[in-house]
Amino acid sequence: MTTTVAAYAAPSAKAPLERTTIERRAVGEFDVLIDIKFAGICHSDIHQAREGWGEAIFPMVPGHEIAGVVEQVGPGVTKFKVGDRVGVGCMVDSCRECENCLAGQEQHCVRGNVGTYNAVGRDGEPTYGGYSQKVVVDQAFTVKIPDGLSLDVAAPLLCAGITTYAPLKRWGAAPGKKVAVIGLGGLGHMAVKIAHALGAEVTVLSQSLRKKDDGLKLGADHYYATSDAQTFKDLAGTFDVVLSTVSAPLDFGAYLSLLRTGGALVNVGAPEEPIALNLFSLIGGDKILAGSMIGGIAETQEMLDFCAEHGLGAEIELIEASQVNEAYERVLNSDVRYRFVIDAATI
Ligand SMILES: [Zn+2]
Ligand SMILES: [Zn+2]
Repeated sequence: MTTTVAAYAAPSAKAPLERTTIERRAVGEFDVLIDIKFAGICHSDIHQAREGWGEAIFPMVPGHEIAGVVEQVGPGVTKFKVGDRVGVGCMVDSCRECENCLAGQEQHCVRGNVGTYNAVGRDGEPTYGGYSQKVVVDQAFTVKIPDGLSLDVAAPLLCAGITTYAPLKRWGAAPGKKVAVIGLGGLGHMAVKIAHALGAEVTVLSQSLRKKDDGLKLGADHYYATSDAQTFKDLAGTFDVVLSTVSAPLDFGAYLSLLRTGGALVNVGAPEEPIALNLFSLIGGDKILAGSMIGGIAETQEMLDFCAEHGLGAEIELIEASQVNEAYERVLNSDVRYRFVIDAATI
């Protein structure tokens, strides 16, 4: 039996989100029914709801930073029981058979992972995200939120946390390493916290010094304005890793010049436009330009455990669901410190 739940949906591209109802599938053998408590607002929700990344599926219920409590479990569920605190991130399924799935890299499933929303599930039905009261998800794509983390500040970790944790670990953020984070937004502020907790020396590269006090409080050791050309002179050849978290096209050549020999510029931002790059900026100094997309389910669990151990939640502004359209405008204006989270009780 399906469950009818209230949700906030975009009825068409660029239309404001409005309250509606959706059907959640019957709880299958390996499914958990999650009573959603909080849902983070990610910049990619806006890209997709407005078709900035291409054709999308409507109506769309965005939201891939979900934290809640298990309300019901299917008969085959072994990982969770009723009452467990759980999270769901950017994907809810994959083929589970390909080499990437078997390697715990479900996000890179060769048949394509199933997005938490704006996707079609393996049952042929569209998926709907976290701006809703409840969701049904296979246990294999559900993670446990450790007791040490409040659900509201844990929700954004399901995208912003794993998106920054995975590349920081992969590219070696650790004691003795210098890491720069471009942009102090939803992703950037988590990158600063996580890189600091991993033991790296952390520098924020932001357009202005407007958020400098915050950046230092979050764990940055240094803070520079990229609008000041002197920054690029002072920091030339400094960093082992530069992580770009911004969703606007940047002068990547300028940022590559900040790397040490063999250093990596890792991009997790997803601007809608292509960038131009003079490849000489990669050749000199054996530089690496890399990308990274979220992380697998096991690594997402590892990230949550790491964040709980280090007391790292997101900095959030809790809003009522009816404020979602206003929140979108504020995200687009970089006017949020640092993640909006919808209180699902208000949906
Ligand atoms: Zn996201
Ligand atoms: Zn696969």
